[in-house]
Amino acid sequence: MRTKIVAGNWKMNKNLEETEALLGELAAKLPDTKAEVIVSPTFVNLASAVNQLSQSVIQVAAQNMHFAESGAFTGEISADMLLNIEVDTVILGHSERRALFDENDELLSKKVNTALDKNMKVIFCFGEELEDRKSGNHFNIVENQLKNVLFDLDSSSWKQIVLAYEPVWAIGTGETASPEQAQEMHAFIRKTIATAFNGSIAENVTILYGGSVKPNNAKEIFSKPDVDGGLIGGASLKCDDFMEIVKAI
Ligand code: PGA
Repeated sequence: MRTKIVAGNWKMNKNLEETEALLGELAAKLPDTKAEVIVSPTFVNLASAVNQLSQSVIQVAAQNMHFAESGAFTGEISADMLLNIEVDTVILGHSERRALFDENDELLSKKVNTALDKNMKVIFCFGEELEDRKSGNHFNIVENQLKNVLFDLDSSSWKQIVLAYEPVWAIGTGETASPEQAQEMHAFIRKTIATAFNGSIAENVTILYGGSVKPNNAKEIFSKPDVDGGLIGGASLKCDDFMEIVKAI
């Protein structure tokens, strides 16, 4: 049985008080679930989030990190800094990082390798843009995104990797991939990994879907056999919506 995960990507939302309020509500209302539940507040609120959730099963992830060990990288956050505050999961490769902050495969490869070296868990995001889907190039794009960053890894690293397929055209747009489109791509991803590595890695890797997952569509998307949960943006900012999505898994 693959690990099921519902992860909330809070992006650049919620100040300290708002973070405390939402976490308090989430911890109190979390339903009984076999899925791992993860939240990712902004960097400045990570330490207090870890503290506040110390008695909860809800885990805390960072939204990004730098690849270097330490040094003259003004404005950046290292893996050790995250680990020091007990954050051992990091989201890397989100389409906003790629599009707005020019993160390319080469940079992401360094970040992923650092995170793995530090024994962190990586939620690796990727997905095609609308024009790729329209031109029928989406499978190629996704295969290359995986290949350029993950295909040089040791087989043993895969237990630290969670994949998040997020078609860019579905992120924050209200437009969701249909459950069939999600399933088709997730099955393709698994097949690609089976070919590059082996069937057991492909069978065991958790693949999340992300892009306008809401309480009213989560159940259908999560019911697909190769969809193991979701990376949730907008709907993770409201306790009741996020909890409905957790219940849907
Ligand atoms: P969304 O964001 O759920 O608001 O579409 C998903 C994401 O960016 O991870």
